[in-house]
This record gives sequence, structure tokens and C-alpha cells, in this order.
Amino acid sequence: MERTESKGFFEMLWDCDHCGSKGLLAKSQRHCPECGAKQNPDKRYYPKEGEEQAIAGHAYEGSDRHCPSCEAPMGAKAKSCTNCGSPLDGAKQVKSVASATLPPPKRRWPKILIIVGAIALFIFLIWFVFFRTKVATMKVTGHEWTRSIGIDEFADLPSEGWRDAMPSDARLPQCERKERSTKQVPDGETCKEEKVDKADGTFEKVNKCRPKYRDEPVYDDYCRYRVSRWHQVDERKLSGNGLAPQWPTQDLPSVQANDFFGAKRQGKRTETYTLVFDGKRRCEVPEAKWRGFTDGQAVKVEVRARSGELVCDSF
Ligand SMILES: [Zn+2]
Ligand SMILES: [Zn+2]
Repeated sequence: MERTESKGFFEMLWDCDHCGSKGLLAKSQRHCPECGAKQNPDKRYYPKEGEEQAIAGHAYEGSDRHCPSCEAPMGAKAKSCTNCGSPLDGAKQVKSVASATLPPPKRRWPKILIIVGAIALFIFLIWFVFFRTKVATMKVTGHEWTRSIGIDEFADLPSEGWRDAMPSDARLPQCERKERSTKQVPDGETCKEEKVDKADGTFEKVNKCRPKYRDEPVYDDYCRYRVSRWHQVDERKLSGNGLAPQWPTQDLPSVQANDFFGAKRQGKRTETYTLVFDGKRRCEVPEAKWRGFTDGQAVKVEVRARSGELVCDSF
């Protein structure tokens, strides 16, 4: 989604090694105007901000090449050297300067290694203190269970939600506009200017732009309404010890009932099974596993090395 836009071509600069003249133009001054020495194209540099000289109507033809015999920079289309007359077959391209906005590459490895090492040490310490386990033998000393049955009532209930999710039997809806989400809308663009050495004595200024977005709220209807529903109002619960768990039977409504206000019926059933180890440590387990142990049985389990806490999924 990046858009690039050329802002024109400008002269690179070079300094004469021979007489010390500075800031010579790389495209239009192939020889030093002071002493006549030829340009060294490998030492071109970008001019300072505000001192760039634009080249109107510049047609880019390719990187300059070194004359293989006298090293003078020659345009991409030249057939032979204008300095010494040598043919330019197999001539090498001149070096280009790195893009001016890129920071010089830094050696960052040592810092990263220290940070990674510190994180690894921290994780190790957390594990050593809180998670490290050892094997221990514990005796199963009890089987605890609870079983409960919910009691549901059919009633007129308040409810709320977005209009498009409102049930079809909702009554007396009262809705208001409310922010539901946000969407991204285009909001101009952010641009970064870069200088690119074209290696023909010029550089190009390029504007690289990415679209910018901002969040805009999206409104929708939020409604309060009433519905007729079964909902849990109570529960009957039994708990005990031993391998004969039972469902509650006292004071229960029937399993089925017709939908009228005030009607009651049996609802959700929940059950938990807990093994007791050494009379004090408890683990809630699935019923089949719970039935797989007998009281008095010795079991190899994992415990936290520091706290002695039983790791319940280890047996
Ligand atoms: Zn010179
Ligand atoms: Zn030459």
C-alpha cells in the first residue's frame, strides 16, 4: 500500500583528491575545474540539506561504469572512454552510496544476548521456585462427591442486547443509540523522504507515503426488553463420602412442565468427584478416575518441590 513519488534528480558531490577542491558536481563536472584531475566516482557523497542542485529534465540511463583502463566514470550508454579512448567492454559499475535515511548498521548482538539470557534466567527461577516437582507416595484416604440438580422457574425476565440479536419473542423493547465498534477510515498519509544514489552522478529524492487511518465509532441500537424464559432459581444438593454417590430426591419438581408463569421443573445437573490424599490434599477428578482408586491405596504422585502441593493431573 506504499506510494512512492519522485521529487526530482539532484547532483551528487565529489572532492578532488589531487588539488583538494571540495563540493564538485558529480554529474556535470567529470573533471576537476581547478586542476583537471578526473573524478573518483567511488567517493561521491550527498550534499547537505538545502544545498542540493536539481537537474531539470534528467533522464536516468543507468549507473556509471569505471573505464577499465583509466578508472574515469563514464555514462551507462558510453561505448568508449572520453578520457583515454579505451573501449568500455566489461567495465564495472561504480559503487553507490547507501540510502541517506538509513542509519548505519549497528552491532546489536551482545545486548540482545544479555536480554535473552536475563529472561531465560528469570523463567528458570520462576520454574525452580513455583513449578519444580518431585515424586512422592501418597495414600488415598477418601472419596468425596457432590451432586446437585437445579430448579428452574418459568418467568418474565428483563434482558438486553443489540437489536439484531434480539429474540423474536422480546416484548416492550426500549432502544438507544450506543457505540458498538469502531471502523478505520482513511486519514491522509504519512510520508518519509529518502535519497537514493543513482550511481550516475545524481541522486533521486523519493517520497515514500503510506496511508494513515483513524478509528471512527460505529453506532447501533442497544435494547432493553422482556422475555419469558426458564431460569434457575434454586438447587438441591447432596454430598457425601464413599463410592455410592446419589442424586437428590427430596423436594424436587417434576422433570417436565408446561410454560406458564410460576411453573417449576428440574434443571441442570452437576456432579463433582474428589479424591482425598493423606487426609488433607484434595483433587477433583472425572468420575471414572475417581472410581479407579480404592481407599488405602498408595499412589505415586508429583508434588511441588517447595510447597509440597499435590499436582492433580500427575496421576
Ligand atoms: Zn583538482
Ligand atoms: Zn579511460
